[in-house]
Amino acid sequence: MKSGIDLKNELQRMDHRGYPAYKDLRGAWRMRDFVFVIDHVQGDPFASPSSVHVEVEGKTAGFPKEYFAQKHRRIALEDHLVRLFSAETSHHSRHAGSGKSGAIECSRPGQEILERTACHVDSASGKVTFRFRMGFPARGRSIDARAMIRLVFEDIPEMVARSLIFRNIDQRVLKKVIELADDQLALRNFIKEENLVAFLADGSVLPRKSGVSQLPMANAVAFSSPESLRVDVTLPHRGKISGMGLKHGITLIVGGGYHGKSTVLSALMLGVYDHIGGDGRELVVTDPTAMKVRAEDGRSVKKDDISMFIHDLPNGADSTVFSTENASGSTSQAAGIVEAMEAGTKTLLIDEDTSATNLMMRDELMEKAVPSDGEPITPLIDRIADIRDQMGISTVLVAGSFGAYFGVADTVLRLDHYHVQDITETAKELAEQYGIKRPKVAWSGTPSFERVAKKSRVFSEPRLKMKTMGVEGFSVDHEQIDLRLVEQLADSEQTSALAACLKYLELHVFDGKRTVSEAVTELGKLLNEKGLTVVCAGAQAIPSLAMPRTQEILAAVNRYRGLEV
Ligand code: ADP
Ligand code: MG
Repeated sequence: MKSGIDLKNELQRMDHRGYPAYKDLRGAWRMRDFVFVIDHVQGDPFASPSSVHVEVEGKTAGFPKEYFAQKHRRIALEDHLVRLFSAETSHHSRHAGSGKSGAIECSRPGQEILERTACHVDSASGKVTFRFRMGFPARGRSIDARAMIRLVFEDIPEMVARSLIFRNIDQRVLKKVIELADDQLALRNFIKEENLVAFLADGSVLPRKSGVSQLPMANAVAFSSPESLRVDVTLPHRGKISGMGLKHGITLIVGGGYHGKSTVLSALMLGVYDHIGGDGRELVVTDPTAMKVRAEDGRSVKKDDISMFIHDLPNGADSTVFSTENASGSTSQAAGIVEAMEAGTKTLLIDEDTSATNLMMRDELMEKAVPSDGEPITPLIDRIADIRDQMGISTVLVAGSFGAYFGVADTVLRLDHYHVQDITETAKELAEQYGIKRPKVAWSGTPSFERVAKKSRVFSEPRLKMKTMGVEGFSVDHEQIDLRLVEQLADSEQTSALAACLKYLELHVFDGKRTVSEAVTELGKLLNEKGLTVVCAGAQAIPSLAMPRTQEILAAVNRYRGLEV
């Protein structure tokens, strides 16, 4: 391997030369405490910064083995290192020269702890690999070697030393991070063993600072479980804590407008991820398969079996293989529910604010005026009990205006000035008193998930263009896959990962034999065993990706208009 001195010489030799000469630097360079690898060099000073990474040997990095040998701890450690390095880059400012000269950029995690390509700690050796981007410095369009030497020989070694070397970082903070990861894992095991949909610790802070900030709201009303649902759990580090154990079954969340219903549902929806200490939701955990489903008119649907909700369509279309380029509110939500089932979801999360009313419910008067044989929709209220009993799927439903659900709910929670009360008994009495029992509708059976995926030709094009648009979606060859309403995507790096996953599926898994869900399950397994780099094969540099769930992979596949099934 060439040395740092070689790199310095090379740089001095290319000073003032044309920018493309930087490309000669690709490869690995042995520095004092780490190996510096240049993976991809930007085409000019104004292009996206160059991709590089550092490799710090386990001995040098010095993290105790017990901090990375187990997966949950390793991910917490990696996430913490990304945050430390990212903090270093935000103090750094050597912006001088043209374009992106001197910029250092790396992943910036939000409140969720996600596995990322940015940082990897080898579970055997403790070697740390850290990927980031830097703007190779230029004056005009010629190489500024002196500025580059300062970056590579002063700034980066300093950042590495401060954020990736155990003895230099705040070990008390790191210990807390690792302990929280243990406690979160214990909490997740607890809800699984107790067959709970979710656990929300007393004292949690659920609301966020604002619609555009995921930081906790200051002076919020802290979460407190109603007595009837309170459970205790003993965590390895924190010891005994208490909170609300949300039971398997149908839970209704009711209450006046603005009393905090959607806030509770949002916390449940993001409880599929672990949160950092201080977030307020670090002891809120939800069934990891839980999926928020909503109306999303305009989306594309490809051969979904939505017949449990929709039948006898006026245009004679077969709703067991329902396709549309432009779904309505009700058909899009029906598709969303069925696709969640296809993804193995055991908990549906639904908010009336974002639902198609006609899919939720039809009142008596309307039933009289439009008898069900003239109505293609069987609303959720007539399916929800069988979804629980026949398919073992729980539902948490925010419904401030559908009293009729009292009849089918197992638990009814009321939010009153952000305080949760258990009003199950009152609700059941009211349901009895007003006789809102609905006539039993025959069970439709489990939907068919037999869609077989074929390769779409687009992906074998060598010049295929794919682009990520923040957390909102990505494009394939000018077609946009809109993920704005896939609400459990927490990070734009997950969106980038979804684009890479779709490409991987199209190139390596879709074969005209496997069903869509088999294909996605297989990819999910691969990601779990080998990590995110499996979907990056062939890339000049491994891009910044964060781990998505199979639920979101399937959601992206299902929204791809070019999907061939
Ligand atoms: P709903 O869905 O019942 O209409 P939301 O969940 O949208 O109500 O909450 C309404 C407002 O109250 C939001 O601005 C939210 O941030 C705030 N809020 C929610 N929960 C709390 C709480 N525990 N403490 C303080 N404010 C809260
Ligand atoms: Mg609401």
